[in-house]
Amino acid sequence: MTSYTESEERQALRREVAKLAGKYGREWFTEKARSGEKTTELWLEIGRNGYLGINIPEEYGGGGGGIGDVAAVCEELAAQGCPLLLMVVSPAICGTIISRFGTDEQKRRWLPGIADGTSTMAFAITEPDAGTNTHNISTTARRDGDAWVLNGRKIYISGVDEADHVLVVARTEDAKTGQVKPVLFVVPTDIDGFEYRQIPMEIVSPELQFQVFIDDVRLPADALVGDEDGGLVQLFAGLNPERIMAASFSTGLARFALDRASAYAKERTVFRGPIGTHQAVAHPLAQSKIEVELARLMTQKAAALYDAGDDATAGEAANMAKYAAAEAACDAADRAVQTHGGNGITQEYGMAGLLVATRAGRIAPVSREMILNYVAMHSLGLPKSY
Ligand SMILES: Cc1cc2nc3c(=O)[nH]c(=O)nc-3n(C[C@H](O)[C@H](O)[C@H](O)COP(=O)(O)OP(=O)(O)OC[C@H]3O[C@@H](n4cnc5c(N)ncnc54)[C@H](O)[C@@H]3O)c2cc1C
Repeated sequence: MTSYTESEERQALRREVAKLAGKYGREWFTEKARSGEKTTELWLEIGRNGYLGINIPEEYGGGGGGIGDVAAVCEELAAQGCPLLLMVVSPAICGTIISRFGTDEQKRRWLPGIADGTSTMAFAITEPDAGTNTHNISTTARRDGDAWVLNGRKIYISGVDEADHVLVVARTEDAKTGQVKPVLFVVPTDIDGFEYRQIPMEIVSPELQFQVFIDDVRLPADALVGDEDGGLVQLFAGLNPERIMAASFSTGLARFALDRASAYAKERTVFRGPIGTHQAVAHPLAQSKIEVELARLMTQKAAALYDAGDDATAGEAANMAKYAAAEAACDAADRAVQTHGGNGITQEYGMAGLLVATRAGRIAPVSREMILNYVAMHSLGLPKSY
């Protein structure tokens, strides 16, 4: 029979991660963000406990689990008010791509640090001029003897300041077809020609976004991950996990918002009975609870399909999950703020920051419009619109 609940092992993992993150909590997280500090302590603790690299193969220092496991970790951290965006990037995207397409030597070099958190890897695909249209990226990789020379610009790259390396998506210069021929390189953040500048964002998070400048960065042959002609398959191996993780990040934030809102609605009294007595307050929260649970179910389905090796079906489910989760999270955050009245927009209660954090989920890593384009075309068979 098909099971609609996660395994006992997965549920235990969720409880353990929630307990660990609960020691830190939302106030700790926002304090770090506001004082310009990092969440390294939490990052390293989840690394030491084997949660960060739970999806990385065991022989390279990981837990040998799947995307479903690392997504559960990501969701539980966010549900405790400690969302770690770099989980989406380092173990899930970079860890997956290197595990699937790296050479044995590359796996030995990079995966153990990604798994235990001592060596974080950022991921850079977005460019200022290409934006959503990643087929238009212009960061180029040119061969020079045995080496590669990289040139280009990237934007909104998360966590470059905390990363030792960035997995950069470039294209080979001789791609004549007009189709993207992506190639992936691991670039050390301290290499000559690699510079980055922080983009001031309105998100309350210790994890920051950067513009990246890549000027004649010279890389050895073994910085190339996967096959030069491997194409989109290699990239998509990382993008489905990215969507599943982004969905989990959103549902975690939504759960956090709803927990806080429900607790407040049970306590705050201005007329007869607590405000949660009034259906105008209770129903929007109940509606969000339903929407979040639906999004979680689709996220778990996408992860199960991906972990079963069904990349194609997982792609549709991962897109749908990411869409549903972002929408549910935006609404949950908005309703949670409303439930708090004026307190909803004070720094003390820290709810308003969730509006921007959840809103980012509608834009990144893939926008709601592009998911609707995908579903219209792939699921409904409508003509391609872009
Ligand atoms: C907090 C945050 C963290 C990020 N971290 C990373 C990271 O670590 N690495 C990385 O590579 N990138 C990262 N990004 C970038 C992110 O993936 C992009 O912002 C996103 O893909 C959208 O691209 P854009 O901002 O250039 O928007 P644009 O492409 O300029 O799009 C603007 C708007 O137009 C819409 N639009 C464009 N084309 C169409 C179309 N054909 N049909 C319908 N609507 C369309 C879009 O949906 C969007 O609403 C991050 C972004 C944010 C906000």
